Amino acid sequence: MAKYQELHIFFFPLMAPGHLIPMINLANLFAIHGSKTTVLTTQKCTSLIHNHINQLHLSGHNINLLVLSSSEKGNENITSPELSTCFLKAMDDLHEPFDQALKEHQPNCVVTDMYLPWTQEIASQNKIPRLLFHTMGYFALCVIDTLDNHATNGCVNVFRDEMVAVHGLPHLLQMKKSQLHDSVFTRNKFREFMESVTESELRSHGAIVNTFYELEPQYADHYRNIIGRKGWHVGPLSLVNLPSPSRTNYHERIMTWLDSKQLKSVLYICFGSLSHQTKIQLEEIAHGLENANHHFIWVIRNTKEDVQEKEILTEQGKGLVIKGWAPQAEILSHSSIGGFMTHCGWNSVLESITRGVPMLTWPMFAEQFYNEKLMVDVLGVGVKIGVQEWGMREEEKEVIGREMVERGVRRVMDEGEEKQSLGKRMNSMEEKARRAVEKGGSSSVEMERLMQEICAWRS
Ligand code: UDP
Repeated sequence: MAKYQELHIFFFPLMAPGHLIPMINLANLFAIHGSKTTVLTTQKCTSLIHNHINQLHLSGHNINLLVLSSSEKGNENITSPELSTCFLKAMDDLHEPFDQALKEHQPNCVVTDMYLPWTQEIASQNKIPRLLFHTMGYFALCVIDTLDNHATNGCVNVFRDEMVAVHGLPHLLQMKKSQLHDSVFTRNKFREFMESVTESELRSHGAIVNTFYELEPQYADHYRNIIGRKGWHVGPLSLVNLPSPSRTNYHERIMTWLDSKQLKSVLYICFGSLSHQTKIQLEEIAHGLENANHHFIWVIRNTKEDVQEKEILTEQGKGLVIKGWAPQAEILSHSSIGGFMTHCGWNSVLESITRGVPMLTWPMFAEQFYNEKLMVDVLGVGVKIGVQEWGMREEEKEVIGREMVERGVRRVMDEGEEKQSLGKRMNSMEEKARRAVEKGGSSSVEMERLMQEICAWRS
């Protein structure tokens, strides 16, 4: 590892938990390999990561924080899934501080989030290689590429305006048109933004993908050999060795509650860091859970400022309700968790796999419907609750009724053949994930290859 000590690498995450958490893990992975790493942030977002980075630093890792000066509004901190005009304006304000930081510190390489395409140009002006960080897996990336190019590749058929069939991938993919974002078929602002993301990837030195080969081998090959992009899979990053978080009273209460439950008897419910649900939907979930009659931990995010909100724990029937931020990785690691009702955010999916917990899938927006396809139809490690419509804002989401909730929960949690075979497939995938990051495993070898390539760019 000594050979990498002279490397200094910058990491610039998007300021949203689903992007920030894996990026910090990635920076830490580079630090474990011996290089100096610096995570860029802004004044307003420092509080989100300062403690975490500090803890890593104190435990001996060469990981640092560099605060970019920017306007004090803090619009770069994402608390809802929309990439609003305020957010895009906040990004404009960061161009100059980013440029200055590169000029001042001259890192050997800069790794920036996929949604920060503008960093490519600035890195290239400064002659610093840029790698893009994908917070989704190869399967979703391949589907998106095929859909983006459907006008020219002829790989997409729409039947009676309802069903979409996507050809040209290792599996035939069939989805409802309503499960796809409008931008697939209409040129709009989001489509233009995504085109700039792709263009920036093509001009970059390649992409780091938070996945492991054994999870989606045919899609890793498709991405690299058929689409022809450069990708390094070094995940799952949720397995990077991190110091254990300091336990608060709040954590202790959750863990004590879980300790009192039987093996694999509790369903964990969380829809990520950005998803909100209407009161009607929350009521339907509550009834569905009550009727299914299993223990549960349910994380409810009902205000847009949740991340800073104080956590509140209440017992409700057979469950524990958390309003605020849940220690998700720790909860999923507990042996009494037997299922995860998830919105299929890529980090949640990977955390579920690395803890061997079968999923009940409830996709909402972004690439979540593709993640559901991979988990349920290709890998068989989850069951679908049955969402038919893509929806980002709570009021545009389809309401899933209590019967569907109950049926889904029973399929994953009731003792029987289905639970057993889901568990078996999941355990085997968990094992593969762990092996991938061990010495000699696919992700570990890939990481070494990447480090060597970064060294070669210096000469
Ligand atoms: N998370 C958490 N506690 C919460 C909600 C989310 O720790 O109450 C973490 C979760 O473990 C994951 C990330 O936040 O690492 C969410 O990322 P994901 O890709 O699953 O979904 P997103 O929030 O981006 O929609």
